[in-house]
Formats: sequence, structure tokens, C-alpha cells
Amino acid sequence: MHPLLPVDFKMASLIPQEYDFIIVGGGTAGNVVAGRLAENPDVSILVIEAGIGNPTEVADITTPSRAFALRGGKHDWAYKTTMIARPDYERVEKPNTRGKALGGSSCLNYYTWVPGSAATFDEWAEFGGPEWTWENCQEYLKKPVNYHDDNGLYDPALKSVGRNGPLDVSHSNLVPELKPFRNALSSAWVSKGERLTENIYSGTMHGLVHCMNSIYKGIRSTSGAFVTGKPNITILASTNSKKINFDSTTATSVTVLVNGKAELTFLANKEIIISQGVFESPKLLMLSGIGPEKELAAHNITPVVVSEHVGQNLLDHPIMPYVRRLKDGLGLDGHLLRPGPAHDGAITAYNKNRTGPASSGLLELVGFPRIDSYLANSKEYNKYKKANGGVDPFGPGGQPHFEIDFVPMFSDAFQWHIPTPPTGDYLTVIVDLLRPLSRNGYVKLNSTDPLEQPYINLNFFSNDLDLVAMREGCRMVDDMLTTGEGMRDIIGEDYPWPMPRYSDEAMKKTILERSQTGFHPCGTCRLSQSIEQGVVDPELKVHGTQNLRVIDASVIPVIPDCRIQNSVYMIGEKGADIIKAAYPVFYSAQP
Ligand SMILES: Cc1cc2nc3c(=O)[nH]c(=O)nc-3n(C[C@H](O)[C@H](O)[C@H](O)COP(=O)(O)OP(=O)(O)OC[C@H]3O[C@@H](n4cnc5c(N)ncnc54)[C@H](O)[C@@H]3O)c2cc1C
Repeated sequence: MHPLLPVDFKMASLIPQEYDFIIVGGGTAGNVVAGRLAENPDVSILVIEAGIGNPTEVADITTPSRAFALRGGKHDWAYKTTMIARPDYERVEKPNTRGKALGGSSCLNYYTWVPGSAATFDEWAEFGGPEWTWENCQEYLKKPVNYHDDNGLYDPALKSVGRNGPLDVSHSNLVPELKPFRNALSSAWVSKGERLTENIYSGTMHGLVHCMNSIYKGIRSTSGAFVTGKPNITILASTNSKKINFDSTTATSVTVLVNGKAELTFLANKEIIISQGVFESPKLLMLSGIGPEKELAAHNITPVVVSEHVGQNLLDHPIMPYVRRLKDGLGLDGHLLRPGPAHDGAITAYNKNRTGPASSGLLELVGFPRIDSYLANSKEYNKYKKANGGVDPFGPGGQPHFEIDFVPMFSDAFQWHIPTPPTGDYLTVIVDLLRPLSRNGYVKLNSTDPLEQPYINLNFFSNDLDLVAMREGCRMVDDMLTTGEGMRDIIGEDYPWPMPRYSDEAMKKTILERSQTGFHPCGTCRLSQSIEQGVVDPELKVHGTQNLRVIDASVIPVIPDCRIQNSVYMIGEKGADIIKAAYPVFYSAQP
């Protein structure tokens, strides 16, 4: 275990004040970097984390089916976020979830483990150069993982997803209660000419797949696995960063606030790595004097390096969630949402041997379709494509247009404005647009108070064509659910009110009103070949500085065409190897 998990000033002031490496933000990527750098036991590492240091003792975090209940709770940063800021429609929402605990968002996410398409990673090279392509990232997509198929249900070739990493990953536990739903959905999918697949792990993703998750034996796996059992890592939990300090442009130390109050400063002999995630990493850079000239001036911050891209280029997947009735008895609502014998049974099974509906990540089947024939019905789409040289903007390299999640239960995590239904079984559908053309989100400072949230604007649907694509994505899914073989016999009406599928205009309004974040924000400190293009260089060093890197989702230059945790772990692994290569004295004999 870690030598110390101090949560008060007295304890914090007793730990050493100097380390080789300081990781600011013990989240998904931060812990990967810390754990890998700690492979040399002579290297000392400090991890500074705002959240709790013991998430493995919190049942809501470790129990897979409790994930949705974590939204808005004390382990959620719960950001206020402008979702849409169009001339005709604006919406500000809170909470936008991010994990606040050792492990970060890997403690609060919804588990799905997907690598993405080779074609999309190859686009990263425009920003990160030849080292950032599918070919050169693939080994790092696998490195964090230990894939398990204890019952031998899947193709042994899938073991190549990863065998030796600290993070336990396995296929969704196929809950017996959901068999009729699974069968109906698979039949409907195939009856519409779409394919089933089990391999989305080799660079192409197309079809309906049994998903893999960061869950094993009914317990959530988090990036905490990387730092566990490493005595040369000190975790300073319940501690917020305040500022990176510089000697000219060389980062030297980090000033923190323990429990939001008392100040301490820790020195880094070698480097400081910022891993606070997509909203807090650009915030810390700006508070420390690295950011757009106007933004620093607006808050009277003395510039260390003027870097115009800090906080810019925020990307995310807009999703359209909606709910339909399922034939009674075919969903998990009775097992997980409401008291009664089915619920008691689920709890008993989980407590006994971590099985049953409570052990489920709730998502067993995920679809990755292209919807070319639906898009071709749209005048606006055809016009755009023609002007784009005939290239489909939503999947130019053959990538899927959508990720479709089929959660066989009412899920309020995606639609908190709608009351949980008191009776019946439901299907929550999430239509996730994977390559939106709206790419102008941003993060700014609200003030110079390190404890105040930054201003966040996701700017969804700033490009009208994203609304068209989302509408057609919903149509494709509805067609499959209501007329596809098997599904058409068990699917019911919309909840809580009918979707206006008959009208393009009314669908546009509905999408504006009901769409949400897919929880995949990235890009605010993007990878780049120069300071004119982004914030960090191909070695993840902050342009214009020495001894300072950013390693987390904020460096992603092109959003992956699926959920992004596999990419974030990859960035942590690759970033750690880049650092090791820079310190051969420490790491030449290391694996
Ligand atoms: C609700 C939700 C569901 C998701 N579902 C999926 C999914 O199913 N599949 C998938 O692939 N991806 C999913 N994701 C996305 C994925 O989990 C994230 O993209 C990824 O975990 C982000 O990693 P990160 O290292 O960039 O940031 P984080 O993991 O968020 O880490 C940042 C860390 O820095 C800490 N920190 C922040 N500010 C400070 C500060 N000032 N001082 C000290 N510490 C600080 C935070 O507490 C946190 O621990 C989901 C995300 C969320 C939020």
C-alpha cells in the first residue's frame, strides 16, 4: 500500500517536500504514469489528488450497477456546463460528471472498453507527428489491460486485447435475466442487414458487439490498480493544486491546498506532470501563467508563456438518449430500481458471490453502425458532402457513424429531467454521434480562485449538420427497434412522451432539448507540432516550458470514434514510456 494517505495539514506537512516526479491529478492517466515511473523503486513520486484516496472502500464506486447513482454525489466534480450556445437555442446544465477520487473518472465511468478505429488514430499524426498513429499507439492501447475470459466464451484471439497489464477487463457478465432481450436485439439488428461482430479491437469497428468492460468478477477496475503496492509512490489525497511555480520557464514546484485550505509547496527534482483531466488541466496551466494572452490579462495573471490553444479545441460526443417501454419482465428495472423480491434477490446474489444483475455494468450489447442510406435522404447532408469533394464528413475513413448503447433499464444518468417510472420495464437507447462537426468548445477561467470551477462550453450543435446526423441516427435505431425481427414484438411506446419522428423540424427541437454529453470531453491541451497548433509537443511537453508535461484526455487532438477511456490509458502508458526514455539513468534496466 501507499506509505501515507494524508488528509489533514499536519500529516501532509510531515511527508517529504521533494520528489523526483510530481503527478498533479491522480486520475485515469495520472495513476498510469505514476505506476509506470515507480517501476524503478529508487524513483520517488508524489501524486496530488483532490478526491478521496480510498475509493476501493466505497461500495457505490466498486459495485458495477451503482455507477449511475454516483452522478451528482460527493465523488463527482459536477461541473456547470454550457451544452449548447446557438443563436436560436442555449442550454446550461449541472452536474456534468467527472470523477473526484484516486482513479478519477475511471471510478465513475460506465466501464465500456473500446479502442477506436485505426483511421481516426492515423489522423492524430497531423498534430502529434509519426509517433502518434494507430501503428504506434496500438501496443499502448493493449499494455494497460489484463483481459479475462474465465469461462472460455469468446474467441481466444481476443486475448490480444491485453494480457499483462494491471487493469482487469472482461466481457459483460451476460445476466440470465436479459437473455430474451439480447436475443431479440441481435435478431432485429441482423434482420436490418447489419452485422454481428466480436472483434472491434483490430482497427475497424462495425456491427453489434458484446462489450468488454473495466469490470472483473463483479468489481469495478480503476487506474488505482497502477499505484497499489508501490511504496515509492506517496499519495496526497483531498488536496487541490493551486499553482505550478517556475524558475523562468522551467517548472520547479507545485503549491497545493490541503483540504482546500492550508498551503504547502512540493519540489520536483525532475518533472511535473499535469493529469487533472480535460477541464482542470487547462485551468491549472492558466492559473500558473500559461494560456491565451487575453485570458491571462483578464485575470491579471503574469504570463510565463503565452499559449493561445490552452483551454481551446474542446471536443465531446453529443448523445441523444431516449426511452421506450419493454415488455414486462424483460428489463432490469424491477431488479435494480425498485424495492421488491427481484431487487432483494439481486442484492443477495451480489453479496454472496458478486453475480446477478447488480454485478452488471448494465450494457451488454453496443452497436457501431454506419447510416449512409439514412444520411443520403438529407438535402443538407448531400450538399455538404458534395462540397467536401464527395467525402463523408462523419466517417471519412469508413469509421462507424454512431455508437448505439442499449441499456435495458430506465437510466436517469442520461436524462435527469425525466422522472423514474414507478412501474414496468424500459429500454434506454443512447445514440452517440462519433465524429461531430461542431469542434469549437472551450474552457476558460471563472476567477483566479483555484477551488472555483472553470467556465465550460461544449458548444454542441454549433454546426447544423450534426443535428441532421443525430436525427437520422435516431431514425435508423427506431426503425430497427420497431420493425426489426424479435424486437418489434417486445418494444413499446416512448417514455415519457412520444418523439415527434414525423417532422424534421420537431425532431431538431427535441434533439436540442434532450441531447446530452457522452462524457467523453477531450482536446483542451491538444497535442501539436508547434505552439501555433496546440499546447503540448509530441513528447507531451508543454510548449515553451521545461520539465512540464500534460498527460491525460486533454491532449487528444481528434476525438476517438467510441468511448475514450482506452485512449486515455494508452496516453498514460505512452507518456510514461516517453518520460522513461528521457531518463535512461533511471530506466535503462527497466522493462
Ligand atoms: C460518467 C462517465 C462515464 C463514462 N463512461 C465511459 C465508458 O463507459 N467508457 C469509456 O471508455 N470512457 C468513459 N468515460 C470517459 C473516461 O472515463 C474519461 O475520458 C477518462 O477517465 C478521463 O481520464 P483523465 O485522466 O483525462 O481524467 P480523470 O480520470 O478525470 O482524472 C483527473 C484527476 O485529477 C483530479 N483533479 C482535478 N483537478 C484537480 C486539482 N485541482 N487538484 C488535484 N487533483 C485534481 C481529479 O479528481 C481526477 O482524479 C466516462 C466518463 C464519465 C465521467
